[in-house]
Amino acid sequence: MNEQASIRAAVIGVGHLGRHHARILSTLPGVTLAGIVDQNPERAKDIAAAHATSVIPDAGSLIGRVDAVVVATPTASHAQVAGPLLRAGVSVLVEKPMARSLAEADELIEAARAGHATLAVGHTERFNPAVAAARDRLTAPRFIEVHRLGTFPDRSLDIDVVFDLMIHDLDVILSIVGSAVAAIDAVGVPVLTPKIDIANVRLRFENGCIANLTASRISRDRTRKIRFFQPDSYVSVDYAAQELEVWRLVRPPAGLPGIEGGLVPVQQEEPLKRELEDFVEAVRTQRPPVVPGEDGRRALALAEDVTSRMTTVR
Ligand code: NAD
Repeated sequence: MNEQASIRAAVIGVGHLGRHHARILSTLPGVTLAGIVDQNPERAKDIAAAHATSVIPDAGSLIGRVDAVVVATPTASHAQVAGPLLRAGVSVLVEKPMARSLAEADELIEAARAGHATLAVGHTERFNPAVAAARDRLTAPRFIEVHRLGTFPDRSLDIDVVFDLMIHDLDVILSIVGSAVAAIDAVGVPVLTPKIDIANVRLRFENGCIANLTASRISRDRTRKIRFFQPDSYVSVDYAAQELEVWRLVRPPAGLPGIEGGLVPVQQEEPLKRELEDFVEAVRTQRPPVVPGEDGRRALALAEDVTSRMTTVR
């Protein structure tokens, strides 16, 4: 691809999240928002009009008209929608979880290979500026504590909370710990739906690191926090506030060690914008995206392992 040429992009599925992809793509330099696809025609028309672009009747009609597509339809249709595009050489950013099953995830990875197309997965928290700033300070986390709690939503109730919410943290942790999972202990409770609404998971990694994660969609308040404990420091990220706190152990020549640190300044920015900038740059320069299909598959595989080992309390 000519590195100077404008990327022609489209969004398929402009519901709760996809409309933000459309908004951001319509303002990114070097990108032309070339069309919107949604099976709800009114919604497609409204979002296309808001960003001065066209409604395209179906995903297949994008082939030959665009270089890159964001697929933000419900997860059940990701493979069916994204597969043919990738195979035809259209690069795709597919929302998380990347597919319904590992077999479908493999199909997408294979389709991208066959079409020489870029496949990125929308694990947005990787682009959270506070997570990016924390990464340099994480040398040897021994213990990780995560709380991702929210109020009851009107979407994604057809999947366990592990696939909807916890998968964000599973992906972040896998990208930081750099070791295989050795053991999983998990418990889940279906409270308001027949699916797991609140879950607690303890992961033990081969390098000894322990991660304890709680995800809930039935809480009163919204919390999005991940905390890392290392031999010489404590690193705390508030995903929602994009805040980073770092406390270090200081050892004087004699006497007890002290602790110093506090909030670290973070340049706040919309994670979704950073994710789309990375995707567009990956398509333009043909470098791998920050979250390639293989990473989306890795997070999905762990989410599947967690749910298959989960004790369900009714
Ligand atoms: P939503 O139901 O609000 O929107 C989905 C849209 O897709 C709707 O407008 C629907 O009409 C359209 N649609 C459905 N099937 C289609 C098809 N086959 N072709 C064209 N259009 C179709 O859903 P949502 O909450 O926006 O979630 C969409 C995806 O984004 C899910 O995979 C979800 O897990 C993911 N998501 C990711 C994040 C994140 O933080 N990265 C946040 C929320 C949702």
